[in-house]
Amino acid sequence: MELQDSITTLKGVGPKKAEAFARLGVNTVEDLIFTFPRIYEDRKDIKDIAALKEGEAALFAGAVDAIRTGGFTRGRRSRVLRMLVTDNTGSIEVVFFNAAYLAKTIKRGDRLAFFGKPVMNRDRLQVVHPQFEKEETVQTGILPIYPLTSGVTQREMRRLQKLATPLYGQVESILSEETVRRNNLCDLEYAIRNVHFPEERQHYLEAKYRLVFDEFMALETGLMASKMNERFEGEGTKFLNDGSEEEFIKSLPYPLTRAQQRCVEEITADLISAKPMNRLIQGDVGSGKTVVAQTAMYKAVRSGYQAAMMAPTEILARQHYEGMSRDFAAFGIKTGFLTGSMKAAEKRQVLEEVADGTIQILIGTHAVIQPEVSFRNLGLVITDEQHRFGVSQRIKLKDKGESPNVLVMTATPIPRTLAVVLYGDMDVSVIDEMPPGRMPIVTHCLSGEDARQKCYDFVERQIQQGRQAYVVTPLIDESEAMDARSVTQVYEELAARFARTEMIHGAMKQSEKDAIMARFSAGETDVLVSTVVIEVGINVPNATVMVVENAERFGLAQLHQLRGRVGRGQWQSYCFLINEGRSELAEQRGKIMEASSDGFYIAEEDLKLRGPGEIFGTRQHGLPDMKLADMVRHMDVLNAARDEAKALLEEDPRLARPENGPLKRRVEKLFGEDLTLNL
Ligand code: ADP
Ligand code: MG
Repeated sequence: MELQDSITTLKGVGPKKAEAFARLGVNTVEDLIFTFPRIYEDRKDIKDIAALKEGEAALFAGAVDAIRTGGFTRGRRSRVLRMLVTDNTGSIEVVFFNAAYLAKTIKRGDRLAFFGKPVMNRDRLQVVHPQFEKEETVQTGILPIYPLTSGVTQREMRRLQKLATPLYGQVESILSEETVRRNNLCDLEYAIRNVHFPEERQHYLEAKYRLVFDEFMALETGLMASKMNERFEGEGTKFLNDGSEEEFIKSLPYPLTRAQQRCVEEITADLISAKPMNRLIQGDVGSGKTVVAQTAMYKAVRSGYQAAMMAPTEILARQHYEGMSRDFAAFGIKTGFLTGSMKAAEKRQVLEEVADGTIQILIGTHAVIQPEVSFRNLGLVITDEQHRFGVSQRIKLKDKGESPNVLVMTATPIPRTLAVVLYGDMDVSVIDEMPPGRMPIVTHCLSGEDARQKCYDFVERQIQQGRQAYVVTPLIDESEAMDARSVTQVYEELAARFARTEMIHGAMKQSEKDAIMARFSAGETDVLVSTVVIEVGINVPNATVMVVENAERFGLAQLHQLRGRVGRGQWQSYCFLINEGRSELAEQRGKIMEASSDGFYIAEEDLKLRGPGEIFGTRQHGLPDMKLADMVRHMDVLNAARDEAKALLEEDPRLARPENGPLKRRVEKLFGEDLTLNL
């Protein structure tokens, strides 16, 4: 067996299984070896039932004493199966919902082992939906828990991982002996073995350190070898130092905040110098980033250049286009709009006018970076909500011009050290002040049908006062539809109560979505029921209420973004977060949202509750997926790997030496087709 062999060479993997594995990105045995556990469960020993504690997941075993199907949960949707499990020390209740089929497989007197987290229910501990198996087959030790997909079970994954162990020695190291020694790393084979099947926590930690180092080494080498960090030599796009930005600012209906002014000054200084601008604007939702970007775009046109702006959703791109084309028309500037869903003839017209310079400002979605788009002389590129785009997309936009000025905007806070990885030597401007007159948004967390109805009574009063409301529901799978309110369900309910209610979701035709948003913007609709398609950027100042259904399903950072859709005008605004059921976590999250309107603080708290992977996850920032490494927690490893990568590329810029072959292959695999590497 070889590393590059298909996983079908492993016993028990047929074509059907292979398909399921492909969904996990696993095609070869090597891919399987590089599928690392997400977490581990400490099942060192089987616990006495009497020693089980609330909230602490544990392995326990015993005989099934009594078993009973019966009763329905609220809404008569789910049938409950209860059993009593007893060992020498005591008994505990085990509950399964919607699992009447289990009553056929589990019988009184069976000896089973369970793994689950006890919770308190009416003064007694119970375990809901534990994993279970026959007591005699249960594995103990530190058990790896792998990422799965439908058609691949945990047990199967572990079995195959065991089959692959003889190949560990064949995996090539991407680090040289010196690098390993200099950084006190463990041997690669040891690392792979101990990340899959650790005997001690300490071994696992050493193993992880080594593998994280490897990942960062590949990441840093790739980023350094990409165009992202290409140094610019010579004369760049230099805008006129004519104070034209002031003309535009004077035309605004409000003065800029001090923070916005400072931002404009920093940008202007970049624009009028020969070195191309490379700047990130970071500002919380509602801090007024758009107008700062617009000022720079105006200046580009006054200096004889074109400017382009890319936004992550069609709704947001259109909103920018509508606002800006109106503002710029007053100065005789022509603004164009480009999205993928446009009709061919319309698109052709826009492409022609962009190419010959008739369109001076182009706003659009990903369509803007497609190969057929070429500009006459693009001097400024802007990415809005940049965290929604990948590294390669940002670079593609930049490549549309000849060393154009680059501006990216985001409301998602990024630690400085991470920003360096993501943006190279990008300068950062911060808008740390809100436009005046904004009242903090009043936020309430609630649960239960009564509270929910009161919330909609409140919405009704706001509507009577002429305001509008958003109601957001999560995206749900059909399989879990019974646990969460779907967008149609909520829409039907609210449409019966509020005459001017509309619904919007991702599966609709673009023209339909545009029309719905336009009506909401114009105040022709009172209530907009939506999935998260309105999450970023949308600006309708007359909307004062944001209701989030099933708020427990959203991340805090996302709730903060959603809440940022209101409180954009002169009226007091409100946000209601409706949780389904009550849990401690939901309560904690609710408290954070009620107490703070500071995106940085919320992101930090979210980090504590959920762990960093999900917020500063590389995917959110458009980097290739790291399997183990976590940018924030492993900053020291990142820095060490960065130094090594730098030194290596200085000696062998194209990784041409045979000993650097494994690293080169790994980098190419990591970045795939996504990024042009100068290797
Ligand atoms: P974000 O930073 O979230 O992109 P926007 O640029 O959409 O925020 O601005 C939010 C709202 O604030 C818009 O309605 C905008 O017109 C308004 N706004 C921006 N700057 C100011 C200001 N200096 N004074 C008053 N209102 C402002
Ligand atoms: Mg914005």
